[in-house]
Amino acid sequence: MKGKMKVQNFYEPMVMKYEEHDIPQIADNEVLVKVMACSICGSDVSYYYGHSPLGTKDGKGPLYLGHEMSGVVAEVGKLPREAGLFKVGDRVAVNPVQQCNACEFCMRGEFNVCPHSEVIGVTVNGGFAEYVKVKYTHVYKIPDNVKFEHAAMTEPLACASNAIRRLDIHLGQDVVVFGPGPIGLMMVELAKAAGAGRVVLIGRRDYPLEVGKKVGADILINTADAKSKYYAKDAAAAVRKALGHLAPRAIVATSNMDALQGALLVTGPSSTIVYFGLPGPEDKLQVPMLEAIQSERTIKCAWLAPLVWDNAFAVMGSGQVDLSPILTHTFTLEDAEKGIRFMKESKENKLKGVLLIGKE
Ligand SMILES: [Zn+2]
Ligand SMILES: [Zn+2]
Repeated sequence: MKGKMKVQNFYEPMVMKYEEHDIPQIADNEVLVKVMACSICGSDVSYYYGHSPLGTKDGKGPLYLGHEMSGVVAEVGKLPREAGLFKVGDRVAVNPVQQCNACEFCMRGEFNVCPHSEVIGVTVNGGFAEYVKVKYTHVYKIPDNVKFEHAAMTEPLACASNAIRRLDIHLGQDVVVFGPGPIGLMMVELAKAAGAGRVVLIGRRDYPLEVGKKVGADILINTADAKSKYYAKDAAAAVRKALGHLAPRAIVATSNMDALQGALLVTGPSSTIVYFGLPGPEDKLQVPMLEAIQSERTIKCAWLAPLVWDNAFAVMGSGQVDLSPILTHTFTLEDAEKGIRFMKESKENKLKGVLLIGKE
């Protein structure tokens, strides 16, 4: 498609410009998506402030950020067109992690660890723009009843779904979730959908904990604010008191290493812990090994979202997961920079911010 589009072009830390550029030209194996909504991820914030390098060769811009997006199909490349896969106007979400499909990991379906992935908004231009080009294998139709601003959050929801799948909850098992951020709150909803018994949500501020209550958490624990009515200095003692036993399952949705360390304390024999955070390069977990072996502990990591996008669409479509309490702020494309700064700097209560870009 010929024409111009508005974009937010990220050049270097704290420098992002609202500009006009050509609409990207698609190849035979690509689809052009008119972006309707693109959510702001913690990693977008971290790129903007220069806390982590981009995935480009030199780690630098210019690049349009944004990897969590939904939209409508604007143009269909030759291959998907001939296969009858998409038509202009289809409502879709974009899986930004475009694996190579040729390496030893991809061969086994372990797309999340493919070292050759091209990631939209991280290594190539993303969704902080009016249009984005995507390989047709990474464009999925969304359920009719899911709004674009929620569909934009499919990527983090799929990541949360992968982590919950790895947690392997047996029916009725109690689950502790550390970190009531957007992904932790999605995990609360998913744990319930996956058959968890009681869900204990542990955090450091009352506001997100109370949103957690709204989306299904049964027990709230605030480990940081002594004035909170949910305050408990010793999370393990509080979990044991609330549940009557230590937890068989715990999931850590925060980068805070104390939470991961704490997960070892709130879980009992034969338990499983899943870590879904982004630690620093020097961070280490201390595991008392004698206790670990004698209680046959399982500690897993969860990274990205291989083979779970269908689950994420299904739980949104069925209403088992409601993202409206988690989406707290919207911004325009023009205000993207303001939005990113707000998500980082504002003291206001907030969870997830989404850019509303296209109009229907
Ligand atoms: Zn993200
Ligand atoms: Zn690969």
